[in-house]
Amino acid sequence: MGALYLLRGLVMRHFLAVILCFFMLSGTVSAQDAAAPGSRELPAGLIVPDAAKPGPGFDVDTATAAYIDLLTPQQRAQSDAYFEGGYWLELWGFLYGLMVCVIFIVSGLSVKMRNLSKRISHRPWLYTAIYGALWLVAAEILSLPWALYTDYFREHAYGLSNLSLGAWFGEAGKGLLISLIIVPWLISGIFAAVRKAGDTWWLRAGVATFAVLLLLIMVSPVFINPLFNEYKPLPEGPVNSAILSLARANQIPTDNVKYFDASKQTTRVSANVSGFMGTTQVSLNDNLLNKTSLPEVKAVMGHEMGHYVLNHAVRNLAYISLVLMFGFWVVHKLIDQAIARFGVRYGITERTDPAVLPIAVAVFSFYMLLATPVINSIIRTAEKEADLYGLNSAREPHGFATAAMRLSTYRKIHPGYWEEVIFYDHPSGYDRVHSSMLWLKENQQLVESNQ
Ligand SMILES: [Zn+2]
Repeated sequence: MGALYLLRGLVMRHFLAVILCFFMLSGTVSAQDAAAPGSRELPAGLIVPDAAKPGPGFDVDTATAAYIDLLTPQQRAQSDAYFEGGYWLELWGFLYGLMVCVIFIVSGLSVKMRNLSKRISHRPWLYTAIYGALWLVAAEILSLPWALYTDYFREHAYGLSNLSLGAWFGEAGKGLLISLIIVPWLISGIFAAVRKAGDTWWLRAGVATFAVLLLLIMVSPVFINPLFNEYKPLPEGPVNSAILSLARANQIPTDNVKYFDASKQTTRVSANVSGFMGTTQVSLNDNLLNKTSLPEVKAVMGHEMGHYVLNHAVRNLAYISLVLMFGFWVVHKLIDQAIARFGVRYGITERTDPAVLPIAVAVFSFYMLLATPVINSIIRTAEKEADLYGLNSAREPHGFATAAMRLSTYRKIHPGYWEEVIFYDHPSGYDRVHSSMLWLKENQQLVESNQ
């Protein structure tokens, strides 16, 4: 979904970014397309293996295996390598972030930025916000090598990105500018809570973060996503009418179906249903539109409509905000010791001093690393619900299985149980194909046999 892509560039590498990315992932089903005839992709169009065709001898496991076998051993190895590499990236990303925090403190950069901010204003809320802006820019620069590797070079190596280096920098810059409007005030607000609410600041900080994220979710489809992609009305035709029919049947209050030019950024396909009150909108990216079949589009849109009807955005946000609030409490409990140990000798003595931020971010990042399985499981649970909602509403088990297979060209298709619990924010490809085949077995009469 567009919001995911943009929010990735937005404040990536900072704690707020981690939060947003996790959150925005929740509203996304992404599957990869067949943008270029490469060895990674599956052929365009609906795929129905013989063993998955409905009939008296239909067997769920045999049908599932037939889908899984669509991947060649090379494709599967590549997908596993990309995805398992991502597990390590979480650890290395944490360590890289820790290194950035150490640089801020040990080099005296954090103290210098605080002194500069205080020269500009004596008001705590303002100099904290100025510090927050300086920190954001400096952290972005220090994190650039890591961002380039994970988000540009590695994505290109696996054929998942279409961005030129110049365009990548353009989007990163745009994301930074948007962050500069929002993040310094959130930081200032959290420090105000530390100054005024004493031992209960983490409670206020949690509520404030929830409010800011809620606002972002509400405004980003209207104000932020269009800064990164062009959204156009989907022309009349079978895809448009199928989506509108699905929307009417599921009481999605909109006749607004848009498509957007995600292919300039990525080879992945995605879609979403966003908005509230008058802004409700169904969006699909051009990869989904151009590279897949109508049954796949319907299956994916059924899933997205499930997120909307089941109110997953707000539910996930509420749960994840509780996880974040607990993280603020952990920071509250550990920060004084951390300051005594790592801050004092570099001129940082107070938890109300904005220069303490890199130390707080280090503690918070460690907590977030440990909380990753919890957040993944919150999101994955909603994704599983949306999968089942989509199967029941779109009635396109082969469309959903095919889309899941496309996605499995860059997500390890069959993880172990704990591997899925810890690392997966969506059900695995195996789970999705199996769910589709299970649904098909019990609903063969509902599915046209010519699929
Ligand atoms: Zn989803």
